[in-house]
Parts: sequence; C-alpha cells; structure tokens
Amino acid sequence: MPISKLLLDIGRDLFQLFYPNTCISCAKVLDRDLVFCPSCQFSLPFTGFEENIKSNDFATRLMNRIDFEGCMALFWYVKASRVQKMVHKLKYKDRPDIAKTLGKLAGDLWNNHLTGIDYLVPIPLHKERQKWRGYNQSDEFAKGISEITNIPVNNDIIFRDIHTSTQTNKNTAQRMQNVLEIFSVKSSKSLENKHLLLLDDVVTSGATFDAAANTILDNHKNVKISCGAIAIADHWA
Ligand SMILES: [Zn+2]
Repeated sequence: MPISKLLLDIGRDLFQLFYPNTCISCAKVLDRDLVFCPSCQFSLPFTGFEENIKSNDFATRLMNRIDFEGCMALFWYVKASRVQKMVHKLKYKDRPDIAKTLGKLAGDLWNNHLTGIDYLVPIPLHKERQKWRGYNQSDEFAKGISEITNIPVNNDIIFRDIHTSTQTNKNTAQRMQNVLEIFSVKSSKSLENKHLLLLDDVVTSGATFDAAANTILDNHKNVKISCGAIAIADHWA
C-alpha cells in the first residue's frame, strides 16, 4: 500500500474515532458514509408522498386553505417513535446537523419535483426563539436540500413577528388561532413567476404552512407555493 494511501486511511480512522459517523436516528456507529443504520433505514416510516405530490395526506390537510403545487414530507411522525426522537434532537438538543442531513436526504428523494423550484423558504422562527436555540432547524433542513440541488435558500421573504407559545398542548382550533397572523412580509421585492418551496420541521394541522403561504400569496402576484416538511403527524386533532 502506498504510504500516502496509508496516511489517508489512518487520518480517516483517527477522524472517525473522534467524530464517528453515527446513525442520526439511533446513534449507532456506522462503518460507511450512511445516514441511517440498516435497522433504522428499514423501520423508519417514510411517507413516499413524493410519488404523488398533489394528492396525499399532507396535501389533504392544506386543501382549500392554500393554492399549492405540491406537498412532500419525509416521515410519518408517531409519538415515542424513532422519528419523534430524531425531531426532538434536532429541535431541542443542539443538533442542527441532523436537520441538515435530513435536508440532503430530501434533496435526493424529492429531486424530480424540485426542478422548477426557485427558492427554498424556511418557515422562520421568532428571533428571540432562534437566539435561544442558536439556529432555525427549518433553515438547516433547507441548507441540506440546497447542498444537493443548488436551489438557493431565501430567508428574506417573510419573518415571524409574533412570539407564539409552544403548540404542543393545543388543539387544532387553538393552533389555527395561534398562528393566524404571525408572519409578515420582509421585503416587497417581486417574486413574480417564482415557485417557492416552504419548509418546516413537523406538520400537524398545517396551520403554520397556511399562515406563511397566505402571507406570501396576499402580498405577491403570480407566485407558486409548494410545501415540504421533515415529518407529518399521524393525527393532530
Ligand atoms: Zn439507527
């Protein structure tokens, strides 16, 4: 073995010793450059929504609320599941890398439907919450998609101007009221004929997408909207 190759291998082994490549779901150390271990890959509930972006459970939730082109989500979000643990880590355990890795996965899986998209638009957090968390998980998800597709991330379209309390313990009606007018447009720069992919972590009732999309549609002419999420709750009422 040439010495340069040997040094490269040793370097990689040392790197892996300190920064091992682990399954982002269960943290098992992986010996190859994978996202999930075989067990998680096999058991994670992928939705397959990208096979039918206009007619799936996500699209149904937004039907008659947003004039959308298509809706996609990577996983079903089931309580106490691997997906829930993964989402918890990327939101509350200082793991923006997980959101970004899932973005790359979405970039690969959704590739066929991303060709007409002009901007990836992360659902913004209120600036106080983002400061507290240190990052916006939806922005990290968008960055991962962008890395694969080269579609730019655009954070200059809307902002969140009301600091809503956490949604976890609210029912659908309360959530809708809670998010009804929480976004405002950030810039009046024309988005004419642009197609935006709004991105969020978990979709439950769809109220957040509804509010964000309609803020954009109310303030811009001839703009197309699609929606993408890391996970979709299996029930939300
Ligand atoms: Zn795993």
